Amino acid sequence: MLTPDKITSTVCPFCGVGCTLELHIKDNTIYRVTSPHGSPVNHGNLCVKGRFGYDFLYSPRRVTKPLIRKEKQLPGKRTAAASLNEWREASWDEALDLVADRLTEIYQKSGSDAMGMFSCAKATNEENYLMQKIYRALFRTNNVDHCTRLCHAGSVVALQMAVGSSAMSNPAADVQFNDVFIVTGSNTTETHPIISLQMKAAIEKNGAKLIVVDPRRIEMVNYATLFLQQKPGTDVPLFSAMAHVILKEKLYNRQFIDERTEGFDEFAASMEKFTPEYAESISGVDRQLIIQAARMYAGAKNAAIYWALGIPEHTHGVENAMSLIHLAFLTGQIGRTGTGLNPLRGQNNVQGASDSGAMPWHYPGYQVVDNEENAARWEGIWNVEAGGLNRKRGLTNTEIVGAIGPGGILSMYIMGENPVMSEPNANHTRHQFEQLEFYAAQDLFINETHQYADVFLPAAGWAEKDGTFTNTDRLVQRVRRAVDAPGSARPDWMILADVAQRIEARLKRPQSSGWNYSHPGEIIEEMGRGVPDYAGIRYQRLESGGLAVPVPTVDHPGTPVLFEKSFPRGRGMFHPLEYKPPAELPDDEYSFTLTTGRVLEHWHGGTLSSASSLDDLYNQALMELHPQDAARLGFTDGEIARVSSRRGSIEIRVKVVERTSPGVVFIPFFFARAAANILTNDAIDPRAKIPEYKVCAVKVEKPGSSTEDGRLPAYRQRGRY
Ligand code: SF4
Repeated sequence: MLTPDKITSTVCPFCGVGCTLELHIKDNTIYRVTSPHGSPVNHGNLCVKGRFGYDFLYSPRRVTKPLIRKEKQLPGKRTAAASLNEWREASWDEALDLVADRLTEIYQKSGSDAMGMFSCAKATNEENYLMQKIYRALFRTNNVDHCTRLCHAGSVVALQMAVGSSAMSNPAADVQFNDVFIVTGSNTTETHPIISLQMKAAIEKNGAKLIVVDPRRIEMVNYATLFLQQKPGTDVPLFSAMAHVILKEKLYNRQFIDERTEGFDEFAASMEKFTPEYAESISGVDRQLIIQAARMYAGAKNAAIYWALGIPEHTHGVENAMSLIHLAFLTGQIGRTGTGLNPLRGQNNVQGASDSGAMPWHYPGYQVVDNEENAARWEGIWNVEAGGLNRKRGLTNTEIVGAIGPGGILSMYIMGENPVMSEPNANHTRHQFEQLEFYAAQDLFINETHQYADVFLPAAGWAEKDGTFTNTDRLVQRVRRAVDAPGSARPDWMILADVAQRIEARLKRPQSSGWNYSHPGEIIEEMGRGVPDYAGIRYQRLESGGLAVPVPTVDHPGTPVLFEKSFPRGRGMFHPLEYKPPAELPDDEYSFTLTTGRVLEHWHGGTLSSASSLDDLYNQALMELHPQDAARLGFTDGEIARVSSRRGSIEIRVKVVERTSPGVVFIPFFFARAAANILTNDAIDPRAKIPEYKVCAVKVEKPGSSTEDGRLPAYRQRGRY
């Protein structure tokens, strides 16, 4: 066995669990990953992504020098570069000057509404903070967003409305103190593997009882006391029927309702119609199971709810999350160890990117942009003249894509995201990117979206830079530089600071808003000046482990459990609910419901995982099709099917499996060759602006003559792009 030159402790770059990794380094190369037994989140356990997925850093597809497109790209005629031959290498000065020149020119010509950017849940807190600061302080726009819009935006809006805080209320490890817990809209085994281990241990060692509510027969069902297999998009009637039972059988906690909540009477009246019979007729779940689930949850000493994207990714995602919040309010199952409302965050730093202000309606710390006091606070910190920051709420991800074109968004700067893969209705997204006047990409790889860019700025990977991530249960942890970045790739925070200085000089604004950071620790301290929850975060404090925000002072120990005495908004707010069906339901022509999601071996838009050895484990898209449907349509396992929605078609291999229900197909969204988001609907939740990834209508048929040829697009092949 090799003897390492050094072992560097850091945090996993994949999912939001935030496991501790020990990177074993030899000759400036990571060759092995372990985790110490005493690690705070994962106790030495790692999933396949954390243990083996690091080798995307060494992919031959990695871009290591700044690139500029050879051919000038014109709005409406912009094309996707098919190979590296369409780019030329450039110096950092030339590439950064081009970015600053073109962005400044478009801003000065067309104003702040022409500017749009996507920040990145894979990047550090410090980098997300800088990205939004550039767009707010220099370009005076709030068209600032990242992929939280595409995952938990519905949960965030509902929790803000009801509680005044959108984070998980309890540490995930609190599941060991649950007597009963609900898992809904979360295939936890594949999306948050280490949390699923903790859930299984709570059941097997402590006797906790699990209720799974999900359209698919996920692996956690094997550990469940109750399984409610609902039709996709029926969460509001199902969970409201549980509330109905709790109300009718007087299983609620009157003292908690009286002392900690408001709006109860109006809410209770709205629950009258949600009888178990009504919920059964919509969700397909046996009314007796709904009654049992309500009694089990309400009767527990300590109960908690864990959910993921199956709840918010709907046109009524806010109402879905609200129906869960009501259960906790009714029963008082919040504010104590072993209870809580826990939206499991997907990306490694989606919580931190949101905390850092990479969102269109909020400055860092969820401070709304259209509040005078908040705007004045950040004008002070960023040395912007009084009244200089834009008070108008910005556009969200999907709105930014929709607004690209003359009179709308003319320029984009995208750090680490891949909207052609991650936005719904991918053909429309491609068309929109063709209309841009200028596009700057900053990433490790040229992905499906960056193919449209004018300039590519090569970034350092997570193990090649310093910073912090905030995991799903609010633990701020240090990310440490373990190896050198290849070629001239640089940390995102350094690139952003250089871009900002160049833009500031061109705008002739005083160079005092501060971009001269010598270390990212200075950036998080600046953020803490405006965000009380981060005011006590210092890098030296994180050397011995993470701190759970809120950390309001430099000697505060952190806050693992929220809402013990009150909610940030004061009392918890009940909201009356109505059931609204999904925007697009099956009909005679498009007779199947498509629902999308993740698999264990891949992650996000697939940019990183497809460049790693994880791709060897799961290298093609598979569509789950129920055996009854397979028999009816004449499909056998492994055959190719053509799947079409009103927005496009893909060809994909069929996996005949009982995990889905008859009439429902499931497709993971990582695969460029069979991109699920060509099919998905870009209808959005009116409040959270999150697209309805979880339900759309499709047809499934035998392919015509143009069957899939099995080859990956050039930019996804393992060799050089
Ligand atoms: Fe990484 Fe998540 Fe796996 Fe932990 S559970 S090793 S954080 S991908």
